[in-house]
Amino acid sequence: MNINVHKFGGTSLKDAPFIINVANIIQQQNKPMIVIVSAMGKMTNALEEIVKSVFYKKDNPTEHLQKIKNYHSEIIYQLFHLHHPYKAKEVETQIHPYWQNIEQYINQPVSSPYGQIYDQIVSIGEIVSSIIVSEYLNTIGIYNTWADIRKILITDNHWRAASVNIPLSQNNFSEYLLPLINDQSILLTQGFIASTAHHYSTTLGREGSDYTAALLAYFVDAKELTIWKDVDGVLNADPRYFKNTQKIDELTYYDAIEMTYYGATVIHPNTIKPIQNKNIPLKVKSFLNPSTQGTIIHHPKNYQKITTYSYLPHQILISLQSNDYSFFAETHLHKTFQIINDFSVKINLMQNTALNFSICTTNDEIIIHPFIRELQKHFKVLFNENVAILTIRHYTPTLLQAIVHDKEILLEQRTRHHVQLVLKEKK
Ligand code: ASP
Ligand code: MG
Repeated sequence: MNINVHKFGGTSLKDAPFIINVANIIQQQNKPMIVIVSAMGKMTNALEEIVKSVFYKKDNPTEHLQKIKNYHSEIIYQLFHLHHPYKAKEVETQIHPYWQNIEQYINQPVSSPYGQIYDQIVSIGEIVSSIIVSEYLNTIGIYNTWADIRKILITDNHWRAASVNIPLSQNNFSEYLLPLINDQSILLTQGFIASTAHHYSTTLGREGSDYTAALLAYFVDAKELTIWKDVDGVLNADPRYFKNTQKIDELTYYDAIEMTYYGATVIHPNTIKPIQNKNIPLKVKSFLNPSTQGTIIHHPKNYQKITTYSYLPHQILISLQSNDYSFFAETHLHKTFQIINDFSVKINLMQNTALNFSICTTNDEIIIHPFIRELQKHFKVLFNENVAILTIRHYTPTLLQAIVHDKEILLEQRTRHHVQLVLKEKK
C-alpha cells in the first residue's frame, strides 16, 4: 500500500517546542501515514521508578507520580494555553483516568508479579503521550485518528519482553485499522506496548517502539518506514566509544542487523527483520535536521562497503571445562544449552576447543550468579568480568592491526568480513 510509517522517539517529544517541531515534520510528509510515538522524554524511566517504589515499598511512589503528572501538565499548558485554553482542560480530563489507574497500583497491596505490574504502569507513558500529541495535531489542523495499539498487537504474557502473535495481530490490523485509512489519513498510535489475549498490557522490551513501527510497516506493506532520531543517521561507530565517526548513507539489511545486534543502539535490533521480509526501505533521519538525507537501509544495487565498529559493553566471558578431562563434546554442549535456555541467557559469542567451551553474555546482575552456580554443578567454570565485545565488519588487516596492537584480547573470532574481539572493558 502507498503508505508511509513514521516513528518518533521520546527525545523528539521531550518538551512543547520539540513536539511543535514534530508536528511541522508530520505536516511535510506525504499522506496517508501511520505515526508512532513513544512516551515523552525520559518518562519510561520515571514510570519504572514508580514500579520499583510500589513493588519494593521504597521511596514515595505518589511523589514520583506527582512529578510525572506535573511534567505532562506543563507540556499541555505550553501547547494549548495561548490559542486553545479550553482544550488544555479537555486533554487533562482525557488523561486523568490513566493517572488514577496508577494510583490504584500505589494504594493496593501488591498482588501480581513485578513484570506484570511493570507493564500495566509503564505502558501508560505511551498512551498519555499519544493522546497529547494527537490532540495537539488535531487542534492545529493536522487531522488524525488516534488508535490504542494494545487492541491490535496481541502477545504472550512474557512481561517486559512479550512476543507478538504476528498472524493474530495482522488480522486485527486488517480488520480494525486498515478500514480507517484513506488517501488523506494520519493514523496515530503507540509503540512498545501491546496486550495479552486477556487484555493485560504488555511491553516489548526497552526501546521497543522501533519494532512496533516495523511490524505496522510490515502489516500495511508500507512504501517506507522512517525512524526520526536526534542524530543525522546511522554512524559507522558509536561516538560514546569511538572518535572520528562517519555517517553511513546506505546500509544493507544484513549489515544493519549485524551492527545493531552487536551494540549499535541507533535502532532496535528486532526492527530490521519485518521490513526486510517485505523489502521496505528504512530511513533513519534527524528530527533536528529533517532536510538532511539520513541513512537508508535497503537492498542497494551497488553497495559501497564501509567499515563499521560496534561495541557491546558490560559482558562476562565464561569458560567451561569438564571435571574429568573428557572432551567438551555433544553431551556437555547439550547440558550447557539446556541451562542457557532455562535461564534465558542470550549468547553474544561462543567458541570451543577440545576441552573448553567459552561463551560471552551480558553481565546481568540478576541472572548471572544463579546461572553460574547452576553451571558449576556440572562443569569447572572460570569467568572474566568487565569485558566487552568489539565487532568490526568489513575490516582490513592493516586496520585491524592498528586497533588491536595496544589491547588485551581475551578471545578472537574472524571470518572474511567480520571480526569479533573480547577485550577488557574501556574504563
Ligand atoms: N518508551 C519506551 C522506552 O523508552 C519505548 C521506546 O521509546 O521505544 O524504552
Ligand atoms: Mg524512548
